[in-house]
Amino acid sequence: MKPCMNQRRAEWAEKSLKLFCKETGVSMEHDGYETVISDFLANLMHLADREKVSFAECSIRADGHYVEEVTHCDCEECPQPEDQERPISEGSVKGGLNPRPTTPPPPPPKGQGA
Ligand SMILES: [Zn+2]
Repeated sequence: MKPCMNQRRAEWAEKSLKLFCKETGVSMEHDGYETVISDFLANLMHLADREKVSFAECSIRADGHYVEEVTHCDCEECPQPEDQERPISEGSVKGGLNPRPTTPPPPPPKGQGA
């Protein structure tokens, strides 16, 4: 079975977070992944400021990579584009910058009092 590169990417990120925890004293066991990841991202924002890099641009680029990686992983666990039972649409990508809508947004309200 072909290993899942996205699982590998998650392991690389987790290794980095463990080093971050060791340096800062936060803990994934006690503080939870959401807190640790948020703290790490905030620190990346400070690093981006210091290095005069746009964190927002980095986030947008990272989101693009993420969506590409999630929709085109060729392992046997992730849904494949040709798999009709598990079609991949942008709406089925759960992570990334913003949850993607599975249905189009409702039309704007019509004029009031008409
Ligand atoms: Zn995969």
